[in-house]
Amino acid sequence: MPELPEVETVRRHLAACLPDQRIVGVDLRREDLRYPIPVREVQSLVGATLHDVRRRAKYLLLDAKLPRGLPRVVLVHLGMSGRLFHEVGEPPEWRLHEHFRFRLTGDHGPSVLRYVDPRRFGALDVMLARDEPTHPLLASLGPEPLDDLTAAGLAQQAETCRIAVKAFLMDSRRVVGVGNIYASEACFHAGVHPLRPACSLSLAEWQRVVVGVREVLWAAIRAGGSTLRDFVGGDSMPGSYQQEFAVYGQAGAPCRRCPPCNHAVVERVVLGTRATYFCEGCQK
Ligand SMILES: [Zn+2]
Repeated sequence: MPELPEVETVRRHLAACLPDQRIVGVDLRREDLRYPIPVREVQSLVGATLHDVRRRAKYLLLDAKLPRGLPRVVLVHLGMSGRLFHEVGEPPEWRLHEHFRFRLTGDHGPSVLRYVDPRRFGALDVMLARDEPTHPLLASLGPEPLDDLTAAGLAQQAETCRIAVKAFLMDSRRVVGVGNIYASEACFHAGVHPLRPACSLSLAEWQRVVVGVREVLWAAIRAGGSTLRDFVGGDSMPGSYQQEFAVYGQAGAPCRRCPPCNHAVVERVVLGTRATYFCEGCQK
């Protein structure tokens, strides 16, 4: 499943090739993905010029400006298995599981933005730019982990919250984009036990958690960037690149931080329904 680092990697790729492209055609092969697609609104994008490609949580947001009318935002979510990619040249044959495409034209001739999603848990929507803050999928999202997140903000929200810190980090109202793998990794990085009640962390510990979240997400973005060619063409899944985890999936392996004489090994427990990895030796 594409996580925030994969979506950010896709965003960077699209942000390098979509701005100033004009939409000359929209082809929809179905009228719904996870949610119904607003067909008329999507079709009305013909003639619009794309400006910027942004990301909010795991949503890609394409800014589009029509010759007349208010600015629009195109929202795309990759769901469990979606791929959104840009190809230069005349539109090729439709792929299996390709559900929509935007035909584009720009300085370098025709190109096409294609969406392929075998499991169809993705989303496509169009909104007026001014409605973005109140869009039902966006309105209740917490801060972005790479910029807006603060230790003080987390500490304040956690004051009366007894759920485990790892589950707290995975709640998108607290902070967006911290999936199961990254929550375990961030707790390890911070030296904080993932099962501690969120309200028991000190401000200094939240500070380390914020640093941990950023470190693990940036490491994944860097890994994604270096293997970008592996999936931007749409032939392999985002997230298929190799990334080394300190604790995730490492049950039984020696802890890489504890001194060898401690004989500390990575442990695995199930929290809720999700596998959680940590070291008893150095996560307090
Ligand atoms: Zn350890």
